[in-house]
Order: sequence, then structure tokens, then C-alpha cells
Amino acid sequence: MTQQTIRKVVIAGGGTAGWTAAAALARQLGPLLDITLVESEDIGTVGVGESTIPTARTFNALLGIDEAAFMRATQATFKLGISFENWGEIGDRYIHSFGQVGKSTWMGGFHHFWMQAQAQGFGGDLGDYCLELKAAEGDRFFTGENGPLNYAYHLDAGLYGQFLRRMAEADGAKRVEGKIASVRQSAADGAIEALVMESGQAVEGDLFIDCTGFRGLLIEQTLKAGYEDWDHWLPTNSALAVQTRSTEPAKPYTRAIAHHAGWRWKIPLQHRVGNGLVYCNEFMSDDEALALLQSEIEGETLIPPRLIRYRTGRRRKTWDKNVVALGLSSGFVEPLESTSIHLIMVGVTRLMQLFPFGGISQAAVDRYNRLADDELEKIRDFIILHYKATERTDSPFWDRVREMQIPDSLAQRIELFRESAQVYQAPGELFQVDSWLQVLLGQRVQPESFHAMGRLMPPQQLKQALDDLKRNIAATVSRLPQHQAFLDAYCAPPVSK
Ligand code: FAD
Repeated sequence: MTQQTIRKVVIAGGGTAGWTAAAALARQLGPLLDITLVESEDIGTVGVGESTIPTARTFNALLGIDEAAFMRATQATFKLGISFENWGEIGDRYIHSFGQVGKSTWMGGFHHFWMQAQAQGFGGDLGDYCLELKAAEGDRFFTGENGPLNYAYHLDAGLYGQFLRRMAEADGAKRVEGKIASVRQSAADGAIEALVMESGQAVEGDLFIDCTGFRGLLIEQTLKAGYEDWDHWLPTNSALAVQTRSTEPAKPYTRAIAHHAGWRWKIPLQHRVGNGLVYCNEFMSDDEALALLQSEIEGETLIPPRLIRYRTGRRRKTWDKNVVALGLSSGFVEPLESTSIHLIMVGVTRLMQLFPFGGISQAAVDRYNRLADDELEKIRDFIILHYKATERTDSPFWDRVREMQIPDSLAQRIELFRESAQVYQAPGELFQVDSWLQVLLGQRVQPESFHAMGRLMPPQQLKQALDDLKRNIAATVSRLPQHQAFLDAYCAPPVSK
């Protein structure tokens, strides 16, 4: 048995990334580690990041989190997908839901049957065959034993950080408040030995997790791991975020509404609404962005708008020497598909799986970095698709993204779909076939042909099968409660006995 040489884990930064890492490590590996998190209230956190994807539920379950308690603590609502508005063309709307579309066979996707039906003049909308999508459209929601819906959450990022902090501290993680003034490195190999606080205190560690946000205080400012820019594919670089009072029952989906130089989000929470305008400042000034945001938000403003600048791209090495970057310090692909918190959760899970108790090996570092790179590249392609596949011609921004060169990996996927309606999930890829399908069709990518298997079914039989499926989904949705009513009951404080 090799001796444990890596025990002291120091987490730099206490945003969503820092506290997620602390909570997971303390809960899963606590007795084997000595965990310290350093954060500065003066610097604060980025304060956005409120929309998640269903993997957040898997992560919460791994940590043994009670869902209702979590939702009360973070003022969360349920999320069934994202409503994309004005993306393919002004006036378009489609929902990228977390659901399955129809029933697929081993030979191929359900959509080939649906396209066969369309060619024969029936079949309706593809969305009619997706339970989550129809529930989202009808503002319905239910969760309980065995489903029926696949869902995620909208949550208050600040409250989520506090929730995770309480968990991490209860499980033994320590917290040091203050600013990191400098970083002490080993003369031998440049690895980090300690964070030196403004107070003079040195926080020593064996392994450091850089959760300092866009600054990348350890991974970039100290180790110079390098950054690969993706702004030629994902050109937005600015966001204005503002919180408003709710004016309507909470919708069970995020809204992503495109405008002439980017898009705007609307995320309903229990106690307020998170709003933001994402744009590229080459095509829209900050003043123009502010005016547009203010003209479109509804409800009283609770906190004045905040400007956030970013560069889309990724760190060249996510793990370098004895530093693992997590969260914004590791890169950012913009928030269109709510993937950043997911990447934090996957990153810390992967770190726990490969944890270098006996010392850091290049093989483990390479494995970690390869998995992180692979996953992020596929997410990047999926997000680029929303910009590339547009028919908007109303502004220089849309002209630029419509005409840009895209990664070969994405170009080949679009081509395959256009030719034959074939769509796939690559190994290790986050987004499944149904996600690609909903977004490809939603963005107006029209297949020229489809698989012939639908022809094997007599039209009457195909129509009957589709009608039954559609009717079952409509009937299930009609039995679900309204989202807001369900939420109120689900999050009501427990009655003390
Ligand atoms: P931060 O929140 O910036 O935290 C950095 C921490 O480091 C802070 O605690 C700070 O005090 C500390 N720190 C920094 N320097 C020092 C120092 N010198 N000394 C001591 N402490 C220091 N993700 C999603 O999943 N869904 C979304 O809907 C979503 N929307 C987004 C919208 C926008 C516009 C942006 C920019 C991001 C969005 N994200 C979203 C991403 C999400 O916000 C982040 O992944 C998440 O908040 C994690 O941030 P972080 O913890 O890495 O950084």
C-alpha cells in the first residue's frame, strides 16, 4: 500500500465552483483529506449562474441532499428546458426540452417515422411527442416516485453558495476569509506550496483547486497554463445582469430570447427573476445594451444592472502541476445551454475518481485533461450550432455568425443531418440525440431525406401509432398540476410535529 502523500487540499475561491468542490470533497472523501477554502467577501463572486441541467439532480443525490430543503434554501424552481425565441428567424420559438422525443427503435430515431408522416401530410409538430416539452408549454410540473418528468432547477446562485458552504463546513471543511496577496511556489518544480494572505497567514497545501473565477489566480496568473480563445466561434463577450421582482407565476423553463447582437435570458426563481443581456461589444455598445435590457425587463428592479466581461474559450491545461482549475478559471463557453455548473460538478467528480492520494502522476493529469477537453469541445459545438444555423439577416452580428467557419466536427454533423436526418450522441458527450434533434430542427436545419424504415409501416398504422402517442402525452400533461401550485406545495415549510 503506497503512503498517502496528498492530504491537504486548498480551494482558492468561494463562488459556486469553490463551495461545490468543498461540499463534494468533504462529503465523499472527508476523513481522508484536510480541506480548506479561502475566499474574500470584498472581492465577491460573479453572482450569476442560475440555470442548471438535469445532471444537477444526480450530483445532489450523490451528496445526499434533500430536494425540498435544497429548493427552499436556494429559492429554486423546476426547469424542463429552454425556450429559444427569435433564433432561427425573428418570431420563431422552439423549446429545447430535457425530454425524449417519441419512441426510437434500434435502427434509428423516432423522428424518421415522424418525417415519413409529414411527407404524407400528417404527424403534427415533433414537440407533440415529448412529455417535457408539452408540460413546459402548458406550465405544468410534477415530480415524485419514478417521474414522470426529466428536469433541472433554476436557483439563486448566492443562496446556493451558502447552502453548499453549510454542508461543507458541517462535514469538516475549514474556511479562511481574506484576500490572497501572493502565491508561494516550489523552487524545484514551480508547484504551488502556499497561498499567502494579506494578513500574512500562509495557507499551505498539497493540492490546490483554483476556483478564483475569470482571474485564474493560480492556473493562469501563477502557472501560466495558457488560454485558447474561442471568440471567433462564440463572439459574445459581455453580459448585463439584473434582478427583478416576479410579475407572473414561475415558468418551468428558462427563456433565451435572441436580439440583434446576442440574446437575453429570463430565469424565474421563487422570490425574483434573474435577467441578463448577453452581447458582443463589437456590435452593441454597453449603453445600447443597458437601454435594450431596461426596455425589455418587467417588474421592479431589485439590484442595479451589473456588467460582466468575459472571453469564451478554455484553459490549455485544466490540471497543471498541483493545480486543478474548476469553474470560470477553467474556461467559459457562454451560458446559452446552462452548462457551467454541470462542468463544475463533473470536474470535481472526476477529480474524486482520479484523486492522487499517493502523489500526482502525469498519467492521471493527462487523463483528467483529456476528458475535460473532450467534453468541453462537444458542448462548444452544440452551442455554436445555435448561432451558425440561423436564417437571420437583420444585423451584422447575425451575418457574421451565420457565415463563420465552424469546427469540422460540427460542420460534419450538420451536413449529415441535412443530407439524411441522421443525428447521434458521440461517446462521452453530454447532449443526447434528442437535444441535437430539437435544436437542429428548431434552428431550421431541414433534412433533405430521412431513413426509409417509416415506409415499412402502412400509412394508416403509422398515423394510428402517432395519434396514440400524442394522445397519451396530452392526457398525462392534462393530469399534471400547474408548476407554480406544485412548487408552492413542494416548498412549503415542513410542519413540525
Ligand atoms: P466566481 O463566482 O467569480 O468566484 C470566484 C471566487 O474567488 C470568489 O469567492 C472570490 O472572492 C474568490 N477570489 C478571487 N480572487 C481572490 C483573491 N485574490 N483572494 C481571495 N479570494 C479570491 N452557469 C450555469 O450553469 N448556468 C447559468 O445560467 C449561467 N449563467 C451565466 C451567465 C453569465 C453572464 C456568466 C458570466 C456565467 C454564467 N454561468 C452560468 C457560469 C457560472 O456563473 C459559473 O460557472 C459559476 O458561478 C462559478 O463561478 P466561479 O465559482 O468559478 O467564480
